[in-house]
Amino acid sequence: MAHKLEIQLTFQLKSPVHITGERAELYIDKALLLDAQAQYPLIPATTIKGWLRESSERHLRGWGVQVCDGSKANLMCGHCLVCQLFGAPQHRAVLRFSDAVLRDGVRDVRMNVSLSRFRRASFEERLFSTELAWASGFSCQLDGILPDVERARQAAALIYVAARMGFALGAARSRGLGWVCLDQFQANCDGQILAIQDLLAYLPTMIRALQGTSA
Ligand SMILES: [Zn+2]
Repeated sequence: MAHKLEIQLTFQLKSPVHITGERAELYIDKALLLDAQAQYPLIPATTIKGWLRESSERHLRGWGVQVCDGSKANLMCGHCLVCQLFGAPQHRAVLRFSDAVLRDGVRDVRMNVSLSRFRRASFEERLFSTELAWASGFSCQLDGILPDVERARQAAALIYVAARMGFALGAARSRGLGWVCLDQFQANCDGQILAIQDLLAYLPTMIRALQGTSA
């Protein structure tokens, strides 16, 4: 029997965020991606999904569970937990993610300069501008149909840890942009709430089970 998992995530933003859009904006080299209707800054579902996938892979490997590298599509197995939840060339992802709209987002522009790593000096005529969004935070949802309750709990526990421990998303993360902090996590399976303390208590059992199944 199939089971429906739904998760609502709310994050605080600790620094401005930048996701490059395809707009042409006068005097701005890298303009923000905006919501097509209301023109609010937008974090697309693909960015959130990629960020949570990367964080999930890192944690699972840290626990000794072998999973595929999401940046190497040609080497994905199609059946490990990450491939199942986040997708692989062989099949679609079980989990579907929503976009996050920064409704209280304020747009700002930061000037940057490209540096030559070889000369350790700035390149001439390489000044560029990046548009940033300042916002208090954002929310996103994800859902999926899983084959059993155990798989739904695994997915919820993994998403919680990945969201809690992932620290920055979007572009220029190493330059201080996109720092996030998980504020609220609500998950349910077929309408039954999956409490955070229960998911954390379940984590050691889940890790042992996954270690046994990894290649
Ligand atoms: Zn895989």
